[in-house]
Amino acid sequence: MDDSPSFDVVVIGAGPLGAATARHLADRDTSVLVVGPDEPARFDDHEGVWAGYYDQGRLAHVLEVPLVTTLLATRSRRRFADLEERSGVVFTTPVRSLSILPSAEENPQASTWFDAGQIMNNAEDLGVPVDALDEDRLRTDFPQLRFPRNHTGLLQKDAFIVNPRELVRAELTAAVSAGAHLVRDEIVEITHLDEGVRVTGRSGETWRADRVVMATGSATNAVGLLSRPVPMTTFGATVVLVEVDDPETVDMPAMMYMKSVDGTIEFGGIVMSPLQYPDGKWYVKVSGRSLLDNPLASTDEIAAWVRTGGRTDDIDETLAVLGELLPGQEWGPARTRPCMVCETPTGLPYIDRVDDRTTVVVEGERGAMAADEIGRLTADFVITGRWNDGIPHSAFQIPWADAEADA
Ligand SMILES: Cc1cc2nc3c(=O)[nH]c(=O)nc-3n(C[C@H](O)[C@H](O)[C@H](O)COP(=O)(O)OP(=O)(O)OC[C@H]3O[C@@H](n4cnc5c(N)ncnc54)[C@H](O)[C@@H]3O)c2cc1C
Repeated sequence: MDDSPSFDVVVIGAGPLGAATARHLADRDTSVLVVGPDEPARFDDHEGVWAGYYDQGRLAHVLEVPLVTTLLATRSRRRFADLEERSGVVFTTPVRSLSILPSAEENPQASTWFDAGQIMNNAEDLGVPVDALDEDRLRTDFPQLRFPRNHTGLLQKDAFIVNPRELVRAELTAAVSAGAHLVRDEIVEITHLDEGVRVTGRSGETWRADRVVMATGSATNAVGLLSRPVPMTTFGATVVLVEVDDPETVDMPAMMYMKSVDGTIEFGGIVMSPLQYPDGKWYVKVSGRSLLDNPLASTDEIAAWVRTGGRTDDIDETLAVLGELLPGQEWGPARTRPCMVCETPTGLPYIDRVDDRTTVVVEGERGAMAADEIGRLTADFVITGRWNDGIPHSAFQIPWADAEADA
């Protein structure tokens, strides 16, 4: 007789999406277990999966090309204050978000994933004020910053930096106070039973549930728990942290920056205004063009990547970009950190069933700003068994036909 504890839903993965899904399930009186490892203390001896959220800052703004993404982020943002109050965990810092992009004359290709016109239309549709800054306005509004010729800016003055570690803590705190059970373990097996499923942790513990939500981020295929892999690609990304003595001296908004010179992209990534890290020091965080350079297929490959600590070549690129942006600024030592990211071929999150018991939820690149709403939609889909939102479900469905054609 199987006397494992039993739940309506087990959520596998306690990152931003799993934590948000668990709290929305618990808020709707669903009995829920959320299982996932806590952040490891170090990476140089790492074994197993890693996460995309082990960091202090993620942009939350409307300066993204897909309207669905900005809508998910906007819906999430409307609940930030309530979540902070409920959980007692503050995870937002108000910030000006500035996206710098080459003009169409400088680099016509850049506009396919950084289209200023589409971003402005999205912001207008969502009622969020965004200023378009031409070269003159960039010079007058940000006299301390230097950009190459033929670049323009989009500025959202009321954006946030979300601390993803604290976001996860807030969601889990709210989930647990609404009745969710949180267990720190890694699921190694899912067994389909006549009624429901049994999941087994690395510890040997087992739990039963009627349904499963896989919220395992970039590791979703690598962990081998799904009956069929979902079409997505996983990458080992590098974050460069550059120490600053005094954050007050670094006068910089949070930036997405695409730099093009003579039609060639020379940098594309995030340059974050200074943030305080758990070691008490302040760093400017940069993640650049190598974000999607290191595809990883298995948990062994993920662990090996994590142990490298990231691509040290990115340090030179980062220091060059910062040196150009803020000439005269003194920078302290720089180091890399490993991070995980994934891409779906649709460019949008997945919230979809893989079999009649299992729902997968994935958002690789904007899953901090949009996590709370993705979690709400996932919880509703799992509870009701139907898609009930105004955004068509097709936006979040897994393109199985594409995957089969590629096979
Ligand atoms: C450099 C970089 C910059 C980014 N910038 C932004 C940004 O500015 N704004 C933004 O919104 N997003 C940004 N993102 C993306 C964002 O961090 C991710 O979308 C988000 O972390 C995804 O959340 P998740 O819960 O799906 O996955 P993760 O954060 O990866 O969490 C998944 C969790 O599942 C756990 N897990 C895996 N396998 C198992 C298992 N078998 N059993 C139990 N648990 C398991 C993992 O340990 C992990 O804790 C960035 C990402 C990177 C790497």
